[in-house]
Amino acid sequence: PELINQIAAGEVIERPSSVVKELVENSLDAGATRVEVDIEQGGSRLIRVRDDGGGIVPEELQLAVASHATSKIGSFDDLEHVASMGFRGEALASVSSVARFALTSRAREHDTAFRIEVDGGKVQAARPAQHPQGTSVEVRDLFYNVPARRKFLRAERTEFAHIDDLLKSLALARGSVEFRLSHNGKPVRILKAARDEAAALQRVAEVLGEDFPAQSLRIDHAMAGLHLSGWVGLPTASRSQADSQYFYVNGRLVRDRIVAHAVRQAYADVLFHGRHPAFVLYLELDPAGVDVNVHPAKHEVRFREQRLVHDFLFRTLHEALAQTRA
Ligand code: ADP
Ligand code: MG
Repeated sequence: PELINQIAAGEVIERPSSVVKELVENSLDAGATRVEVDIEQGGSRLIRVRDDGGGIVPEELQLAVASHATSKIGSFDDLEHVASMGFRGEALASVSSVARFALTSRAREHDTAFRIEVDGGKVQAARPAQHPQGTSVEVRDLFYNVPARRKFLRAERTEFAHIDDLLKSLALARGSVEFRLSHNGKPVRILKAARDEAAALQRVAEVLGEDFPAQSLRIDHAMAGLHLSGWVGLPTASRSQADSQYFYVNGRLVRDRIVAHAVRQAYADVLFHGRHPAFVLYLELDPAGVDVNVHPAKHEVRFREQRLVHDFLFRTLHEALAQTRA
């Protein structure tokens, strides 16, 4: 199972930011209202994610870090099968197989917290610990036992930039959650929970920084089970804001051909100048109408009704942008 975990880890855990993504998503899944991320040395020395979510009950701690994979690898066919199993239920097992790992958690309505340590895949018995309600996960010395992967880690600054980008995209996805990020003991971002629309807009501005458009339009339109909301910037001739294009489908960041095409067309049709505007858009639809698990580490989706989604996006944005010319 150790080898299987390490292979699964290679699938999705490319670098420290991939670990941060899995851990923070777990915190959000657990209903956290506050998530703190502490990084040392670009994440290669330490990644710590703390949350105030529902926690894990003591009897499920072992399970949380256990792999769901039971098969042994005997042939290349098996290997391919493992890779295609994806990552569901495998994140903690995979991360803990390639690092020195500890998880401490106190479940809601429990008096005692427990801590479990996993060292390169070897799970130690859970012990009582001090912790407020919620969960802390510590990942030290990532890839210490997989030298081939550790070698591929980039400069501290580069790895931290990936983590910061990731945190920005998660903070934009969940405006009602407080996020804190520190690097080598220094606070880098403190994003308070936004409780109303003005605060939400302010938080978007804070995340986008100088890429925040001088002029932006509020989008909020629903039709035929589709709801699009967020902000679109008006492009400037001078500056590309391609790094500040965020599109979420049911709360997940996606990069999708259909979406990109609809957005590009809407802009091109109305505004003839400028390129690559900044935007932060949220599309909500019936989960049955979209498959977001095409690949867990990529940001792909597959809409059941591609045409409908495309036309809805195009028309909604086109109409909003056209008003700016009236
Ligand atoms: P998955 O998220 O796909 O279920 P993971 O390996 O990421 O798989 O996590 C395994 C399980 O551990 C989760 O299903 C959840 O029950 C528990 N868990 C992990 N992180 C947290 C957390 N921060 N708060 C509460 N439960 C958690
Ligand atoms: Mg998970």
